[in-house]
Amino acid sequence: MEALSRIPVVADIFQCTCCGFCCHGETTVSLNEADQKRMATLMALPREEVLHRFWRVNGREVQMQVRDGHCIFYDGKKGCTVHAGRPWRCRQWPLHPSILTDEANFLTITASCPGLKKELGYESFCRIFKTLIANGTLMAGGF
Ligand code: SF4
Ligand code: SF4
Repeated sequence: MEALSRIPVVADIFQCTCCGFCCHGETTVSLNEADQKRMATLMALPREEVLHRFWRVNGREVQMQVRDGHCIFYDGKKGCTVHAGRPWRCRQWPLHPSILTDEANFLTITASCPGLKKELGYESFCRIFKTLIANGTLMAGGF
């Protein structure tokens, strides 16, 4: 593929189709302290109430509860109902840095997420991905 003649944007490598695949399953991502604070603030509820109603404690991890095989915050029509307060791991997905270190990770993640532009091919995808990280478009905590 030819190099882009303009500054790349996230949409060059990823556009969410809102398929909901990443919000399904019997496990959910863990929430660190910043995630918990952000989500409780977004919901305008005390942390303890959010914990009781929406999270679960799994060992030392705080995770979101699962309902009907998906994250409790996933709505089939609306998608993520806490989008602005979602955990950083949700923000990072699917542009995980591990893609850059191994093509096998690229293949695994593109197989799970139809929003990734796998048709670019691994090298072109990584070139744009690296540029987005280098120019600050993609932060370590997601976008
Ligand atoms: S799997 Fe990918 S395309 Fe589907 S909702 Fe998640 S991020 Fe969006
Ligand atoms: S918080 Fe939102 S983006 Fe993350 S798994 Fe739940 S519904 Fe999906």
